[in-house]
Amino acid sequence: MNILKCTKCNAYTLKEKCPECDSKTFSPKPPKYSPLDQYGKYRLIYKKEQLL
Ligand SMILES: [Zn+2]
Repeated sequence: MNILKCTKCNAYTLKEKCPECDSKTFSPKPPKYSPLDQYGKYRLIYKKEQLL
């Protein structure tokens, strides 16, 4: 069984569509990548370009 979550009304459901607002539901598991890491990477690239 796969628990899904509606990002609009924060409701948990087993259906691929939220019964409340009919929008697509997503797995509540956090994504593997961290947004903070991505920003760090971009900052590094930016710094390198500034040095060139
Ligand atoms: Zn919903």
